[in-house]
Amino acid sequence: MTLNRRIFLGTGAATAASLAAAAVFAAGHGKPRVVVVGGGAGGATAARYIAKDSKGEIAVTLIEPTRQYYTCFFSNLYLGGFKEMDDLGHSYGSLATGGVNVVHDYAVGVDRDAKTVALASGGSVPYNKLILSPGIDFVDGAVEGWDLSAQNAMPHAYKGGSQTELLKAQLMAMPEGGTFAMVAPPNPYRCPPGPYERISMVAHYLKANNPTAKILVADPKEKFSKQSLFQEGWSNHYSGMIDWIGSDFGGGNVVVDPDAMTLSIDGEVTNVDVCNVIPAMKAGHIAELAGVTEGNWAPVNAADMSSKADADIYVLGDAAQQGDMPKSGYSANSQAKVCANAVRGALTGSKVFPAKFSNTCWSLIDTDDGVKVGATYEATPEKITKVDGFISATGESAELRKTTYEESEGWYAGITADMFGT
Ligand code: FAD
Repeated sequence: MTLNRRIFLGTGAATAASLAAAAVFAAGHGKPRVVVVGGGAGGATAARYIAKDSKGEIAVTLIEPTRQYYTCFFSNLYLGGFKEMDDLGHSYGSLATGGVNVVHDYAVGVDRDAKTVALASGGSVPYNKLILSPGIDFVDGAVEGWDLSAQNAMPHAYKGGSQTELLKAQLMAMPEGGTFAMVAPPNPYRCPPGPYERISMVAHYLKANNPTAKILVADPKEKFSKQSLFQEGWSNHYSGMIDWIGSDFGGGNVVVDPDAMTLSIDGEVTNVDVCNVIPAMKAGHIAELAGVTEGNWAPVNAADMSSKADADIYVLGDAAQQGDMPKSGYSANSQAKVCANAVRGALTGSKVFPAKFSNTCWSLIDTDDGVKVGATYEATPEKITKVDGFISATGESAELRKTTYEESEGWYAGITADMFGT
């Protein structure tokens, strides 16, 4: 990839996009090709919508290494004993029968000149439009003493599947009166309330099974999502069990030792039985390999989620630097529909609707005690901009909290059906 081409694509995005669409037809290449990398909340939704709505006019290939996608959403409820692992797993069969060419492989490179995606197995796949939704990877060296080789001793459980199961097994094996520690991540990261819902669910489990156990949270932030709601819930349900140490008290000055199973917070060393290290995050590595990242994330245009570096590449979900939306499954799904509509329009001339986005993040604090925060958004020239928001209030009735939890159950069923077509 030459510097000249990057500058051309970066500065003439709209022109480049329309020229590319025209070229697909003019060259008589048959169906335009969309390749989607990553079959999660963003990628599965985008692949499904483009295949479904284009009614076979566009050839859609989805590249995803796993055969079963385990959602991170509701994985904390699995830790708390409210869900089984099987409840979180979803396969790609319905996407395949719905017209998506599902390739179980790993994308290892993008050649933006040749417009191909290289696969770990050796082949490559050509595209006219490429959609990247690879989720997150971790920033090297973000937590002193921890790297991926330590993830079995000190799991992150911030990607779905085996890591979540490992953390649950460690929680269940804790000695009586032991210590569960969490190293919380700095902003921005996937699912802002996720670590605090996890603390709630771990506390729920321990209260029933190991009531003298303690929870220690080292946090590099001064404050966190839905803080007053969580802290109210912790004091109502788990009084005296949770010790949250924010940045004002050295929560950001952390060293872990996975061999000794110790956590040092601002120089004070504690022996821990479980240590859930959630390091700082960055866009999934393939975005970096494609050359569409700036720093840790991939900047995109709000109107269609196209990369600011390349008009034929789109970045969805956690990997994107888009503006005001939190990195959530709901956001990724919402962005994917905007992107799918725009990509279809660019390739087939179908009508493109103005971009509108929404998000809600529910969290469960204890049985039937659900809270939520959410907003609607629109595309402005600079970014995805928040229009209106809402959040649960402290002191709400038990009845309302139960309704909020039930709402989240409905959302889970709806989003997974929307992603996988099941
Ligand atoms: P993902 O869903 O992670 O999908 C990425 C996919 O890309 C993966 O399947 C991966 O295998 C694949 N991939 C990566 N690299 C490659 C490559 N090189 N080649 C091919 N495939 C690749 N969100 C909510 O909305 N509500 C919640 O309640 C909620 N709770 C959460 C709780 C926890 C504990 C966590 C960790 C997250 C939670 N989230 C929640 C956030 C949500 O899971 C993510 O924001 C969402 O999954 C992001 O979607 P995505 O498409 O960007 O990435």
